[in-house]
Amino acid sequence: MNKTRQIWRNIDLFSLRLRLTIGIATVSAIGNGSIAIWTSWRMQQILIDSHKNHIEQIAARLPQDVGLYSEMMLPETGLQKAINNLTNTKTFLWVKNPARKVVAQSPNWNSLSNSTVAELMSKSEMPIKPEVYKAGQHYFVLYGGSLQVQGKVLGMLFVVQDITRDQTMFLAMVRTLWIASILVIIVITFALAYYIKRSLHPLRQLSQMTEVISAKDLAQVQLHLDNPPSEVKELAQTFNMLLSRLSQSWEQEQEFVSNVSHELRTPLTIVHGYLQSVLRRQNNLTPTQQEALETASSEAKHTIRLLQDLLDLARADSGYFHFHIQSCVLNDLVAEVVGMAKKYSERTIQIEENTSPLKAKVDYNRLKQVLLNLIDNAVKYSEPNTPIILKLNQQGQQAILQVCDQGYGIPLQHQSRIFERFYRVDEARNHTTGGSGLGLSIVKTLVEGMGGDVKVLSKLGEGSVFTVILPI
Ligand code: ADP
Repeated sequence: MNKTRQIWRNIDLFSLRLRLTIGIATVSAIGNGSIAIWTSWRMQQILIDSHKNHIEQIAARLPQDVGLYSEMMLPETGLQKAINNLTNTKTFLWVKNPARKVVAQSPNWNSLSNSTVAELMSKSEMPIKPEVYKAGQHYFVLYGGSLQVQGKVLGMLFVVQDITRDQTMFLAMVRTLWIASILVIIVITFALAYYIKRSLHPLRQLSQMTEVISAKDLAQVQLHLDNPPSEVKELAQTFNMLLSRLSQSWEQEQEFVSNVSHELRTPLTIVHGYLQSVLRRQNNLTPTQQEALETASSEAKHTIRLLQDLLDLARADSGYFHFHIQSCVLNDLVAEVVGMAKKYSERTIQIEENTSPLKAKVDYNRLKQVLLNLIDNAVKYSEPNTPIILKLNQQGQQAILQVCDQGYGIPLQHQSRIFERFYRVDEARNHTTGGSGLGLSIVKTLVEGMGGDVKVLSKLGEGSVFTVILPI
């Protein structure tokens, strides 16, 4: 029961496979049905025609027989004798005079039930068509025409033939034909569904291949399918051309960002240096001038940081970001990072390590940058009186570094997006923190570049835990 429900749930009502299957199966059902209807109708006509010919022969013989007998006996007796001669267990005759009264009839009428006889009589009152009549449990073919003997009209002659046996056989054949047609349609539908699924497989393969292409892979990826149909092959080629165009424009964009960042960073660093030296001397500056210079210096510093981040990301994207991987003792690195962070902020930063000196192969400076970024965020997004804890642990073949704060936390719906470039949760509040939304994407790029992973666990109003997992 559950399996059937699962199958129904998996059916995509708008899929090409379902549409093609339904379309072709409907056409084949209409074709098959039409053939079955036409065959049944034709067989019924042949059955009627063969019996019609037979009773027409009987009807043609009766006037001749009546003519012969009339020479030897009374016409009424001759008529009855002729009818008796032509009657058998399946054939019945009767004659009505012009006043519509039955004047002679087959002697075996009583083999039929009264209701059947009454029904046949009533049918003879209406125009007679070449078709099968059903009366009681029997099937009949009926003939009616005027009876003329030696040029004299005696009345109307009716001949009826019981075709129950033939008609029952015919109905059984029709039933078999319909069952066979329905079975054929079902088999065709399943065969079609399977065939269409197989034919559409290359398309599915193509979409699965393109699904996993990221901006970084654009330059290397080429879609290749084994023996695809020509149309899909053409589509794959078009995709490949599109990918190479996208790759080119992506590279140009990276180059542009990298060049612009580089060109702007150098003069801005000089400006920042001059501002700092003027501020240091503080000779005859008025308080307003000093405040203006401090603002300019802080904005320049912020912009230099932003440009450096952009430059790092552009380098990472274009594969020019090199890691100097070497074996480092993580405990020393953590202690150094905390020491550096304490210089820049007044916050309490605690270290919790449950491990003896833990060595890992990492890029020492890049990992420092990662932890400083995370600590910087923890400081920015928590109240000044709350502590920040840096934890170092080992789990199997992995080193686990955690930066925990008791700050504002991140709403669940934003947690999966904060590692995206320029993504900031609450612009209104973040405005005062002076970030750019690039810090965490740099963290992610650096950690992944060292073969690790970074995750966040956060609860609104309670704090956040950023976990960096690195292979040992
Ligand atoms: P920003 O320069 O804005 O700090 P990040 O990429 O470092 O950019 O962070 C992205 C966003 O994630 C931030 O704007 C902030 O809203 C949220 N965020 C990052 N770290 C924390 C944290 N420790 N606590 C709460 N929110 C955080």
